[in-house]
Amino acid sequence: MPGGALTPLPPGAVIGILGGGQLGRMTAQAAASLGYRSHIYGPEADAPATQVTPLSTQADYTDQAALRDFAKAVDVVTYEFENVPFAAAETLARYVPVRPGPGVLHICQNRLREKNFCNESEVPTAPYAAVADLAALRQQVEKIGRPCVLKTAEMGYDGKGQAMIDRDSDLEAIWPSFATAAATSGVILEGFIDFRLEISVLVARGMDGARQTYVPVENHHKNHILDQTIVPARVTPRVADKAEGIARHLAEKIDLVGLLAIEMFVTADERVLVNELAPRPHNSGHWTLDAAVTSQFEQTVRAIAGLPLGAPERLCEAVMKNLIGDEVASAQAALTDPNVKLHLYGKAEARPGRKMGHTTKLIRRGT
Ligand code: AMP
Repeated sequence: MPGGALTPLPPGAVIGILGGGQLGRMTAQAAASLGYRSHIYGPEADAPATQVTPLSTQADYTDQAALRDFAKAVDVVTYEFENVPFAAAETLARYVPVRPGPGVLHICQNRLREKNFCNESEVPTAPYAAVADLAALRQQVEKIGRPCVLKTAEMGYDGKGQAMIDRDSDLEAIWPSFATAAATSGVILEGFIDFRLEISVLVARGMDGARQTYVPVENHHKNHILDQTIVPARVTPRVADKAEGIARHLAEKIDLVGLLAIEMFVTADERVLVNELAPRPHNSGHWTLDAAVTSQFEQTVRAIAGLPLGAPERLCEAVMKNLIGDEVASAQAALTDPNVKLHLYGKAEARPGRKMGHTTKLIRRGT
C-alpha cells in the first residue's frame, strides 16, 4: 500500500476487470503490452473487452459463487465503470486486492458522497443539498436559487436522471420522477454554474504514493454525451495549475491506487469547481493513447500492478472525437488524414447514443 516498497505483479499475472466495455477493452490491451493477462467479468455477452482476451466470466455482479471463482483466478481486480455494485467490490476484496479500493468506489458512485468528500477536502463544488421530499425541494430551491439542477445521486450518466429547474419550472410536476430515487439512493439539488468551460484532469497514484497528473483538457458535449476533447484545454496557466492541484490533492485524500478522472467547471472569473469523479480511465483521456508518453490505460495498469508510473506528458496538441451511433460510418474515411488515429470498439450494432469508437487528430506543428 502507499508508502511501501514496490513489489510489482510479475509478467503473466492476471488483471481482473469488472465491466466489459471499451474502457475495459483498452485497459486489457495495455495490460497485454506489459505482459499481463486480463480476465473480464460482466453480465453481457460478446462485450467489447472479451474480444481482446480469452479469459472472461459472463455472470451477474450479484453472483457470489462466480465472484469468488473470479477472485481466485486473478491477482488484482479493477473496474471500468463506477456503477459496479459496491457489495461485489467488497466481496472480491476479501480474496484479492481491489484497486482503486472499495472505499474509493463507494464515494464515486454517489453524487452526494462525492460532493461531501470534496467539501471535507476543501475543494470547491457547486452549492448543493440532499433533497428527501417535495417540501425539502421547495425549501432548497429557495435557498440555492434558480436556475438549479436536480439529479439522482446514483446511476445517472450522460445527462440521465437530471432535471433543470429554471424560473418557470413547476416543482410539483418535476418531483414524482425523483421520488423513488429519493427513497433509495438519494437525490441532490445543485446550483447551476454558468461555466465558461468544462475541463477534466486525470491523476494517477501508484502503490508507493507517487502521483502524476495529465494536462487539463477541454470537453464539449452533444446531446449530453461527450463529443470532442480538445488537448490541452484553452485555460490560463493559473487555472491549469489550480485544476492539477485539485486532482493531486483529491488523489491523496481518497487514498487512490489507480487512476481518477475529475470533471470540473471553469467560470469566467477563473474559479474551478469539481463536478464529478470517476475512479477509472475516462472518455476524455482517450487522447493519451496517441498523444501522451503514457496512455491512461497503461498508467492504470502500472498503478494497480505496483509498477512505477509512466510520464504523463503530452507529445503534441490533439482533438479526440467520439464516434457516436451512425457517426461510425465515416470512421475509415477519417484515415485519409494521415495524422488521424482510429480506435473502434468492436460493437456490432450502431445504436443511437452508443459510443462505437473514437478518432484522435494529432496536431503536430510543422507537419
Ligand atoms: P453530469 O452528469 O453531472 O456530468 O452532468 C452532465 C452535464 O450537465 C455536465 O457536463 C454539464 O454540462 C451539465 N451540468 C451538470 N451539473 C451542472 C451544474 N451544477 N451547473 C451547470 N451545468 C451542469
